[in-house]
Amino acid sequence: MRDPRRDVPGTDRVLADPAVASEIDRLGHRLVKRTAQQVQQRARRGELDPEQVVAETLAALPDSASSVRPVLNATGVLLHTNLGRAALSDAAREALLRAAGTTDVELDLHTGRRGPRGAAALAALREAVPAAEAAHVVNNGAAALALAATALGAGREIVLSRGELVEIGDGFRIPELLTSTGAQLREVGTTNRVRLGDYREALGAETGFVLKVHPSNFVISGFTASVPVAGLRELDARLVVDIGSGLLRPDPALPDEPDASTALADGADLVIASGDKLLGGPQCGLLLGRAELVERLRRHPLARAMRVDKLTLAALEATVRGPQPPISRALRADPAVLLRRARALADQLAAAGVPAEAVESEAAAGGGGAPGVALPSAAVALPERFAKPLRLGDPAVLARVERDSCLLDLAALPEEADEELRRAVLAVG
Ligand SMILES: *Cc1c(COP(=O)(O)O)cnc(C)c1O
Repeated sequence: MRDPRRDVPGTDRVLADPAVASEIDRLGHRLVKRTAQQVQQRARRGELDPEQVVAETLAALPDSASSVRPVLNATGVLLHTNLGRAALSDAAREALLRAAGTTDVELDLHTGRRGPRGAAALAALREAVPAAEAAHVVNNGAAALALAATALGAGREIVLSRGELVEIGDGFRIPELLTSTGAQLREVGTTNRVRLGDYREALGAETGFVLKVHPSNFVISGFTASVPVAGLRELDARLVVDIGSGLLRPDPALPDEPDASTALADGADLVIASGDKLLGGPQCGLLLGRAELVERLRRHPLARAMRVDKLTLAALEATVRGPQPPISRALRADPAVLLRRARALADQLAAAGVPAEAVESEAAAGGGGAPGVALPSAAVALPERFAKPLRLGDPAVLARVERDSCLLDLAALPEEADEELRRAVLAVG
């Protein structure tokens, strides 16, 4: 009898098939070849008809050369660190694509000479925060803090409250970040109480700057006292404020969250913030404030190691100038509308035999912002066993497992996603 393995088409023949060849243009030679070889192996083992090798290869190819999987965020945590924090606005996504080629990121098209890098993004920030004389952008909030500590604090003392020695996540601690730059910390007050006099006593010839850090991910309540930015301006020292979350102006939806405009108006010399928290932009760190300080940081040798790429600058400009990013819309979502969506979705699922029920829920800003603020929301409750297959589905859905149920919280999802969510649940069963 003829050995069926001899009928398995060779790799060159599979790759020469017109449909496979066009996939090579899209996905690259290596990836398509590897997939074809795996399918050939299956055919040689007799698991597949040799005639199906081409069709199976096409079916087994991934839909993208990148293995990044989009995940529907049904956790109710609006900025989920494990999901990449802020989702970008459509305008920022479009800016990313435009910036992907060669661009004028560092070129003045009028003169044909080198121009200031990311001038448009910096101008957008300054327009949004008129109190800032200058702006600079680095890779993330931690980099902004490290740059400030290095340029203004190395070999000197950074004076900060014991109640603001924050761990920001994944074991990273702001005090350790600061001392890693060669600065000394001069802690003042106690965990729960600090007064202006505590700061005043700590100031001296060694002082580099006074730092105020927004606790971001926790609240201290009870017998507490702290000194607001407007109080710290009384001190005879440079004042740096790390607001964490990146609001450029006050947001009525989050009355307790600090913002860059207010911190500068209250007397901060330099404000530090993240770009991908409540601002809703790409990952980056913002430095806003007095021109002389910002210029010093920008010219520091370390600044080059923290430089952001053209993609970040483009997405940041579109976030600051363009339409509201998803996080801002989500923060303003009407709970009645969320509940109506949850009911519609639960009804459709129940009609298809899925044990689904609409419930009220509580969402959170997350991502180190607005701790303790519960945002009224709504969810579709499913049995807990749905959580894992939903995670592994297409599209992947990350739900919140709470009290033995799998909650699909709608707060972080736009209404357009409801249909996708419905299909994802139906695919699970
Ligand atoms: C989140 C946060 C940081 C770190 O910012 P990244 O952009 O995550 O590097 C620093 N300080 C505060 C107060 C924060 O909340």
